[in-house]
Amino acid sequence: MNYSDSERIDRVLQNMGLTKVNKMEDADLVIFNTCSVRQKAEDRVFGQMINIGKLRKKRPHLIAGITGCMVRKTSTKKSEEKDKLINRVSRNDFVFRIEDLPKLPGIINELWPDIKLNEPPEANIKNYFKINPVYTNKAQAFVPIGTGCDNFCTYCIVPYSRKREKSRPMDDVVKECDNLVKNGCLEITLLGQNVNSYGLSNLDKKTNEFKDVDMPFVRLLEQVDALKSKGLKRLRFTSNHPKDLSDELISAMARLETLMPYLHLPVQSGSDEMLKRMNRHYTADWYRDLIKKLRKAVPGIAISTDIIVGFCGETEEEFMDTYKLFEDIEWDMCYLAQYSTRKGTFASQYMEDDVPVNIKSERWHRLNEVLKRSALKGHKVFEGKDVEVLVEKCENGICEGRSEHFKTVVFDSEKNLTGTLQKIHVDRGREWQLEGTLIQEQL
Ligand code: SF4
Repeated sequence: MNYSDSERIDRVLQNMGLTKVNKMEDADLVIFNTCSVRQKAEDRVFGQMINIGKLRKKRPHLIAGITGCMVRKTSTKKSEEKDKLINRVSRNDFVFRIEDLPKLPGIINELWPDIKLNEPPEANIKNYFKINPVYTNKAQAFVPIGTGCDNFCTYCIVPYSRKREKSRPMDDVVKECDNLVKNGCLEITLLGQNVNSYGLSNLDKKTNEFKDVDMPFVRLLEQVDALKSKGLKRLRFTSNHPKDLSDELISAMARLETLMPYLHLPVQSGSDEMLKRMNRHYTADWYRDLIKKLRKAVPGIAISTDIIVGFCGETEEEFMDTYKLFEDIEWDMCYLAQYSTRKGTFASQYMEDDVPVNIKSERWHRLNEVLKRSALKGHKVFEGKDVEVLVEKCENGICEGRSEHFKTVVFDSEKNLTGTLQKIHVDRGREWQLEGTLIQEQL
């Protein structure tokens, strides 16, 4: 989501007449687009702000600001009502909520009164999603379909940082996708904190936008899939909440041609007690059945997940429930995290972070061993087969991209094939990637 937001920030700054530099040391204006899902990400921003202080000694006109999930209130040092970050990070000149992106030109002009910058048309836009992103990649694009979350998982800061769930109008999303495809985009990933409940949130119900629309997310997928006639090859979406993954969506995954056979479905824990404490609204067996349905509908589908180890009160027995679930399901990939308290969440206020750090680390390593085995097994399946790869980068004669099943594939090529679809014969499946040979270059 932040990646996509940065592309919108880029548009506003470019229209003000500013140009991008490659190194922070060369910049006159620095904006940190922050993530606050983990404490570490926040700490990194504070560390970078120390560097801003040092750079300002050489470049006194340098201004720096923060946006993204860490910000609650758009403000500068002069504002009457300030975000806490303004005082906490003294080298910081301004902060803005990403929804207030249209106000950014005004903030910059206020801080640089002597510099004549263009008045960008985006300053008059009310909804920041209406700002056209400067896409960083012609062949692949991320398109947000909504923002915020109503689920309040007890460990998560998103419902507080991104606020209530609100979906973008379907026509806006389809129009953005249509423009992308007309300009040569091959793969679109639809983004949201919980895409499955697109058009169904309380805020959505208060508008007429989704009135009488049955299964809005499936309808949206159908409309974007129809862009295959104009050249769209691949459609993905993330992230998903298991409780909202409907049978209709599963059947759409089987039916729609451009939808790729891959799904990220965060489970977080395999213990029913832990899932209750996390406020996840499903049980481990219910999740197991969901995976069975998915695998039946889309044979060979690759599935990844998120797991948090060491969440408040996690006993060895509860951890072993997660371990067993992992062995049963054999996810293709898992993003494993050791729990750390996020200030402002329900858990930080009412639950004790009581699992010792060494136990969290030990549990993480035990699960990582299971992951290595299941990831390797998931990759071995492809040995000897041909896969289609959308190439993401080529450096020093080695290209890397993703297969339809979202597997990382590497192969040799003297030519830079970035942004093209290529057929690759898979020679070897390793733990974290497939290695293959380019069959015949397709340009
Ligand atoms: S569904 Fe995802 S974004 Fe929403 S509260 Fe839960 S973990 Fe956070």
